[in-house]
Amino acid sequence: MRAYNFSAGPAILPEEVLKEAQAELFDYQGTGMSLMEMSHRGKEYSAVHDETIANIKKLLNIPAGYSVLFMTGGASTQFALVPMNLLGAGQTADYTNSGAWASKAIQEAKLLGGKVNIAANCGKEIPTRVPSIDELKLTPGAAYLHITSNETISGAQWKVFPKHETLIADMSSDILSKPLDVSKFGLIYAGAQKNLGPAGVTLVIMKDELAERCPETVPTMFRYKTHIAENSLYNTVPTFPVYILCLVTRWLLAKGGLEGMQKQNAEKAAKLYAAIDGTGFYTGTAVKEYRSDMNVTFRLPSEALEDQFIAEASKLKLKSLKGHRSVGGIRASIYNAFPPAGVDVLISFMKEFEAKNG
Ligand SMILES: *Cc1c(COP(=O)(O)O)cnc(C)c1O
Repeated sequence: MRAYNFSAGPAILPEEVLKEAQAELFDYQGTGMSLMEMSHRGKEYSAVHDETIANIKKLLNIPAGYSVLFMTGGASTQFALVPMNLLGAGQTADYTNSGAWASKAIQEAKLLGGKVNIAANCGKEIPTRVPSIDELKLTPGAAYLHITSNETISGAQWKVFPKHETLIADMSSDILSKPLDVSKFGLIYAGAQKNLGPAGVTLVIMKDELAERCPETVPTMFRYKTHIAENSLYNTVPTFPVYILCLVTRWLLAKGGLEGMQKQNAEKAAKLYAAIDGTGFYTGTAVKEYRSDMNVTFRLPSEALEDQFIAEASKLKLKSLKGHRSVGGIRASIYNAFPPAGVDVLISFMKEFEAKNG
């Protein structure tokens, strides 16, 4: 039996995807080779590459004038590439600080010597949350506004996005979890290993015209322009992670796309939050209106009980429920691929655990 894997990332993948990858791993479509062993410019991989881009465009209904890029270095590299490419000398960038990931993005922008305005800061508040749109103190004429759509560690998520001429979002942990109006964004990036596929590829969706802002001094590999011009094939693209991402996008399309996913994700999250709220034993970590549908965070009355909870859950194949090492507590990550049945198993375990220890 497969475990119910609540890992925040690298995270669970759809069973169908793993099985298909397994079936094709040794001999890809009768070629006598694994796709992993083939040229990134050959016909087999090219078909996968182009289909993945087309599927992402279809799933998100991406308008003309945007590119879908496959990059490397994770979302953490994007923290630096965004200001390197888009924050011109003398300009200011607005950032919201909503927690651990947002503050890492801010740190990189500051390292590069750009002027950074913190438009709102609730990064250290408990219960955790993201800023409200009303509290943002925006700089007129800022190069861009950067937000973190879902704080994977604290379990807080933007439900309505602020409007900005150039809105940039780190969507590492909620991209493709629901429909999105891409036209409202200048650039979106996401490490694949949360809700998209395996670690090793970073998805970037950007408005092409923004890439023109890049200063001449930025090295070739660090320019969005390069990757747009070369269809993400300037150098060797991480072919196998893109292939798995391709299978995931096919799986999403077969399931009816992002509207169906959103409904299922909202149902899973609502059930789990209801179980948390239905008792005084468990306490949600995030402010209710900003609770994440992807990473459900909560506490028990003591750290000793939390350790016991994690250990007993693990015996029932409820795995990786430990909160991030920086904050403790419990975190149940319930991305697209996490089966609804696993949420039901967790909820029954929570009830039993409370009955015995509450
Ligand atoms: C995991 C995560 C990151 C870091 O991603 P890497 O791919 O490991 O660099 C950044 N932002 C968010 C919101 C994340 O969840």
